[in-house]
Amino acid sequence: MKNLIVANWKMNPASQKEGKEIFEAIRDGVKGLKEEVVICPPSVYLYASVFGQGIVSMGAQNVYFEDKGAFTGEISCTMLKDLGAEYVIIGHSERRKYFGETDEIINKKIKKALEAGLKVIFCIGETAEERDAGKKNEVLERQIKIGLDGILNLENLNIAYEPVWAIGTGNNCGVVEAKEAISFIKNLVGAVDRSTGPRVLYGGSVKSENSGAYIKEAGANGLLVGGASLNAEEFVKIVKSAE
Ligand code: PEP
Repeated sequence: MKNLIVANWKMNPASQKEGKEIFEAIRDGVKGLKEEVVICPPSVYLYASVFGQGIVSMGAQNVYFEDKGAFTGEISCTMLKDLGAEYVIIGHSERRKYFGETDEIINKKIKKALEAGLKVIFCIGETAEERDAGKKNEVLERQIKIGLDGILNLENLNIAYEPVWAIGTGNNCGVVEAKEAISFIKNLVGAVDRSTGPRVLYGGSVKSENSGAYIKEAGANGLLVGGASLNAEEFVKIVKSAE
């Protein structure tokens, strides 16, 4: 199984033109590398990507769990597939915090996305308060238990461990702590054997200076990169650090 390196552009950049420039620089920079690279731009830019020409895959940052109908503002799994998206991020902490996504909603989205043939990047992670209260494992276990309730085939599932306190703060998680959390998650989902289990990624203030250690020392099978993925040169360095 290849390492999976995912760029989450969030609500950036401000124009299609800029998005295309970053996209093309990443695509050219990772050509020939053996990692699997996914770019998740805002959904309105998915069509503009020319779909990586087999070098990078495209993903969305969110999806809705209904197929069609009166759900103003939402986008379905089949619409994403039709646009050429292969992956979708579900359960990102910003969706949980700003858009009220619960574990139950996330579970519906994961089910629907997998049924539709999308590959899922399922985000979990504890807040600073939960960590300080010694509840990290309890939170991770709850998010996994409810998020994956009723889902038996984990083939197209990837899990991103993203401690909320490490996202966008520059305060990345130490390698030892990340390793403990990644092992805990792998044990919970039966991913101890890397050839069969879901890949477990790390995300949270990843930069090229710290990225390699998450793969080589903490046992992550990939990375979810936010801020640093908007800088093509830096993102390409991150991908190379996983080689
Ligand atoms: C993210 O958005 O998933 C993320 C990890 O962001 P950042 O790399 O900026 O911390």
